[in-house]
Amino acid sequence: MTILDGKALSLKIKDEMKKEVEELKQTRNIVPGLAVILVGDDPASHTYVKMKAKACKEVGIYSITHEMPSSISEAEIIETIEMMNKNPNIDGILVQLPLPEHIDSTKILEVISPKKDVDGFHPYNVGRLTSGLDSFVPCTPLGVMELLNEYHIDPKGMDAVVVGASNIVGKPMAALLLNANATVDICHIYTKDLKSHTQRADILVVGVGKPGLITEDMVKEGAIVIDIGINKTEDGKIVGDVDFEHVSKKASFITPVPGGVGPMTIAMLLKNTIKAAKGRN
Ligand code: NAD
Repeated sequence: MTILDGKALSLKIKDEMKKEVEELKQTRNIVPGLAVILVGDDPASHTYVKMKAKACKEVGIYSITHEMPSSISEAEIIETIEMMNKNPNIDGILVQLPLPEHIDSTKILEVISPKKDVDGFHPYNVGRLTSGLDSFVPCTPLGVMELLNEYHIDPKGMDAVVVGASNIVGKPMAALLLNANATVDICHIYTKDLKSHTQRADILVVGVGKPGLITEDMVKEGAIVIDIGINKTEDGKIVGDVDFEHVSKKASFITPVPGGVGPMTIAMLLKNTIKAAKGRN
């Protein structure tokens, strides 16, 4: 069994990006810029935003966070996004989710210019991704594909099963695997017999948010197991959705939590921001 080490790969990618950012500055006088919109005081969102800002700094990307109270109106968020759309020093705009209930996330995400949509959530980019065209791809599934590539795992012809079908994780993950010529099966809360699907997977990708959801008996011998889930246990430990201790004995490759997909997600955000900066006129 081989551990898919997302932490090590993310450090390697960040080193490469540092050089790329330096080169952009030298050759085109461009400093990539990322604007983050953070609404409310959800502690996890604040932690993620801080991690993103720190990572930007490490590679030389300029970042700014617009912190807003949860009482803010939809119109005020839209106004800030429109300002960032016009700002020539900002290449990427990210709205940290979830937003408070009175805000319509779909409406907000559609205001972001598709050219600055570094999270890849705008329907324009979603459509391009499903059409197999170049686009901004959501960071978590993109990070999974980079991780597979690093370990020379080609999904072509494999049976891939994605558990979880959200717009930000499961659906784009399935689209990427399909684009890579895997045969893709998508499971979700209403799937009748989850085990009958997961047991067939050569590549099993799980992004649900339920610790211990995937047990040893649900996984095929030699499967490649990617755990996207992030859950905090009662004693404060971070765990994924897969019973790592037992499943790792059956898997050929497996991601740990933490240290698997999580660090890759942040690295891909930086990658998308640099891609946007390179596309500046
Ligand atoms: P979500 O709640 O939007 O979606 C969860 C999905 O899981 C839904 O499609 C739902 O139908 C499905 N589901 C729920 N219970 C199920 C069950 N018992 N069996 C099968 N499917 C079930 O969540 P999300 O935003 O997609 O996030 C999923 C997980 O991934 C969370 O733990 C989140 O913290 C984690 N996440 C991690 C990263 C990372 O960087 N590693 C990034 C984003 C999200």
